[in-house]
Amino acid sequence: MPHVVTENCYSCRFTDCVSRCPVKCFHIDALRVYIDPDVCVDCGACIPACPVKAIYDVIDMPEDKENWITKNRIRSKALPVVTEKQSSLQTAAARRMQLGF
Ligand code: SF4
Ligand code: SF4
Repeated sequence: MPHVVTENCYSCRFTDCVSRCPVKCFHIDALRVYIDPDVCVDCGACIPACPVKAIYDVIDMPEDKENWITKNRIRSKALPVVTEKQSSLQTAAARRMQLGF
């Protein structure tokens, strides 16, 4: 099952996840990233890399986050691919504290 980025990614963009991915499945906008489910090879390497637990394997996904499956599919197709770690947003540290990580 593909992996999916959920709401905790907003305002972070630490992009540690991107640097672990063996294929080009992460796509980026001004505030967050999305995974292209047609490119993801389900290796799971991105999950422990995310400091705010934003990424789930679809098979382990809580029901209240299932809307992110479609959002990742649609948004990833519309956004540029990103393959290298980016500078985190200025809001990243505050966002991480707000989320309790
Ligand atoms: S590490 Fe987590 S929060 Fe940061 S960009 Fe990747 S998925 Fe989003
Ligand atoms: S599970 Fe693997 S292939 Fe899929 S997004 Fe994460 S690191 Fe990339």
